[in-house]
Amino acid sequence: MPVDLHVHTTASDGALSPSEVVRAGRNADLLALAITDHDTTAGLDEALRAADGGTMALLAGVELSVDEQSGSDVHVLGLLIDHHDAALAAALTGLREEREERAARMVAALAAAGHPIDLDSVREVARGGSMGRVHIARVLVGAGSVPSIDAAFRILIGRDAPFYSRKQTLDAVTAVATIHGAGGVAVLAHPGVSGEPALTALIEAGLDGIEAFHAEHTAPDRERFAALAAYHGLLVTGGSDFHGPGVHSAPIGGGGCPDSVLDALAERAGLYRS
Ligand SMILES: [Zn+2]
Ligand SMILES: [Zn+2]
Repeated sequence: MPVDLHVHTTASDGALSPSEVVRAGRNADLLALAITDHDTTAGLDEALRAADGGTMALLAGVELSVDEQSGSDVHVLGLLIDHHDAALAAALTGLREEREERAARMVAALAAAGHPIDLDSVREVARGGSMGRVHIARVLVGAGSVPSIDAAFRILIGRDAPFYSRKQTLDAVTAVATIHGAGGVAVLAHPGVSGEPALTALIEAGLDGIEAFHAEHTAPDRERFAALAAYHGLLVTGGSDFHGPGVHSAPIGGGGCPDSVLDALAERAGLYRS
């Protein structure tokens, strides 16, 4: 049965609520599903309630933004975390505050350049969730500045576009230690898409695994990252990075993750529990 260890909800930039994601996971006959929203665990209580009593295991997770000095987005998944851990919650609050400040900087620059948008509209689109560039993109589309989300990233707010602003994030050591402190397993997300330059620093910081089976990884990517994981004694995970039906992503369950990872994950998490 398929396993999907990387899924987003409306608590960050996904299109489905946590309950709807659980329903979609059940409809896809998943054996296990991890909800991994960007810099927030706000969707997990609802998801755990929705999954209660069913056969599909719901794993508590998070996708942390980590130091971007390498020039590409570095995302580290925390899987099997205690999402009520106080130190984790404090780190996530800091990351979300920085997301909001970064959004404010970008919106101010866009408005000064004549794009008719404001921060309140972005807040409204984010619905209280972890604020990201995709929410700014949706407002830009709604305001008629660009024809599509893709165009917003390409022309205005993508990493190489004029209105991009970097956000402060956690360094590798802090990110991995925070996940371990919450009893979770730290996994480098989608290195074939972004984040690979941070691999060495993350391994030195105590990284547990590599997401070799990501929906956007090619077959050679999967082989290469699985081999790298084996070489470094790391485990391998996988997920779809599902953001909602029709949203630039594979369907839920589409990461091609083997279910054998579940035992390896639980064993590894046992190292960080006392
Ligand atoms: Zn990511
Ligand atoms: Zn993701």
